[in-house]
Amino acid sequence: MNMTEPTVAYVSMEIAVFPGVATYSGGLGVLAGDVVRAAADAGYPMAGVTLLYREGYFRQRLDASGTQHEEPQSWRPDLVLEALPQTVTVPISGRPVAVAIWCYPVIGVDGDRVPVYFLDTDRPENDDDARGLTRALYGGDARYRLEQETLLGLGTVAVLQALGYGRVGTYHMNEGHSALLVLALLDQLRTTEHGLPTPDDLARVRERCVFTTHTPVPAGHDRFGLDLANDVLGTEHVATLRALGLVDHDVLNLTHLALRASHFTNAVAMKHGEVSRAMFPDGTIHAITNGVHAGTWTSQPFKALFDRHLPGWRRDNWQLRQAIGIPLDEIAAAHAGAKLALVDRVAHATGKLLDPNRFTIGVARRLTAYKRNDLILRDTDRLAAIAKRFGGIQLVFSGKAHPRDWDGKAMIQHIVGTAHALAGDVEVVYVENYDMLWGAALTSGADLWLNTPRPPNEASGTSGMKAALNGVPSLSVMDGWWIEGALEGVTGWSIDAETGADDERTADALYTLLESTILPAYAHDRGTYLTTMRGAIAFNASHFNAQRMLAQYAIEAYVLPTTTAAPRENVKELLAG
Ligand SMILES: *Cc1c(COP(=O)(O)O)cnc(C)c1O
Repeated sequence: MNMTEPTVAYVSMEIAVFPGVATYSGGLGVLAGDVVRAAADAGYPMAGVTLLYREGYFRQRLDASGTQHEEPQSWRPDLVLEALPQTVTVPISGRPVAVAIWCYPVIGVDGDRVPVYFLDTDRPENDDDARGLTRALYGGDARYRLEQETLLGLGTVAVLQALGYGRVGTYHMNEGHSALLVLALLDQLRTTEHGLPTPDDLARVRERCVFTTHTPVPAGHDRFGLDLANDVLGTEHVATLRALGLVDHDVLNLTHLALRASHFTNAVAMKHGEVSRAMFPDGTIHAITNGVHAGTWTSQPFKALFDRHLPGWRRDNWQLRQAIGIPLDEIAAAHAGAKLALVDRVAHATGKLLDPNRFTIGVARRLTAYKRNDLILRDTDRLAAIAKRFGGIQLVFSGKAHPRDWDGKAMIQHIVGTAHALAGDVEVVYVENYDMLWGAALTSGADLWLNTPRPPNEASGTSGMKAALNGVPSLSVMDGWWIEGALEGVTGWSIDAETGADDERTADALYTLLESTILPAYAHDRGTYLTTMRGAIAFNASHFNAQRMLAQYAIEAYVLPTTTAAPRENVKELLAG
């Protein structure tokens, strides 16, 4: 990594770089990790910036009734990260806060590195409140949140400068959490010496900023009152935001700030683009559909299979298109290996022995009302009757509820409670503490990946893409990425969005698909089922991957400063060597 090279700074409240350490809560952090992993594979000049959470998000423990208990997930940064000698100070709530910097180098397939910097305020020179700012992800009240977002925003620009990054071409804000970096950039790029920054200064900042929005509902965007903003950011910063039209009346909305200060904004799937354009009619919002990092989310048996048939697939994910030529019996054998690995993991974690020959459905995602994780349990009699006809069904659930999401917590209790009642033809397991390792095991070991959000609330979703990489078809409501990935019977099976709007009808459609299409194929016509499994790889894994996503970002959104070397010389060298 050469710090004088032009660079994209990828800034995110969470970046998942080491599976077992909970510096991420879910999809947003995993996506951020996949972006930096794809950049490392491509040798693309990027640096990630995020905060270090010493107690992580939380460790989830479920009691016998399915009640979720949260515990700190403490870890030792010094065991996995390199402490850098530089420190910076960021003004937060009227006092200077000292920030230490840790680095984790993400290494790509060819050995290229993308550093991820973790900002840490747990320093002896800070007061207790300041030290606590990098304790927990998504914990605390509005002030804690705004202080963390100030640290991330102002800290990012200060840290990259302190580390000697000369030429950051683009600051990519992954969700609005990091939008306050705009204030630091205004300070850095302004040409006027006195008074507030001008619209021209803002224009220079916009050339450098790219924003990805992830939330399709207005309530999901961070908003703060201006009194709090004055307190945390200082009146001068708030006056700047006001003068440049970056606050609305008396609210600081970080999504609006990011939108107005970026030259390129994208939603994370095409449908999400439509929803976002309706929500923010004054901006241009593009759509770049998410993708997952193939090397991270492909299970060992499928890695071996792809290495045999498609050597080079790790460097060139488009080769996965050619999976269409892999013999079905080899797909079956690889999947059997991945399923056994899941059975093994579940046995170790829960003591429950799943049957590797039974049809197994995976349902794992954050527990929140619109995702309807428990929808398949709506009519247990019907589900049990279907299971009985086809040799039984196993359901493996996983996922955390935010500590204050009472609907989400109630859904876990419902699932765990129903498990006791159903046992027999339908075996239900709830795996605690969903993380990347469980995500990988579940999306590769299940026979079917189930997704039943209430449309159009799912911005993208990425777990079904991980399943596709492992030849696991989806059964999903038409929402998020699936609208683009759904080919009926070819990559999986779908429930249309109109049906999906109603819980009762969604459940009915789901049972009907299981009993009349999916289970008959699985139980009596395995060749047809395996053909769908293979189709999921060829059509979806070849497209919904992070390499394609990064290529789109690089082509459509990122601006790198031009190099000073004469291009002609470069061409000559290339031709010569
Ligand atoms: C992939 C992943 C997610 C995001 O998947 P969704 O389909 O968006 O729910 C969340 N958490 C973990 C641990 C993951 O691996």
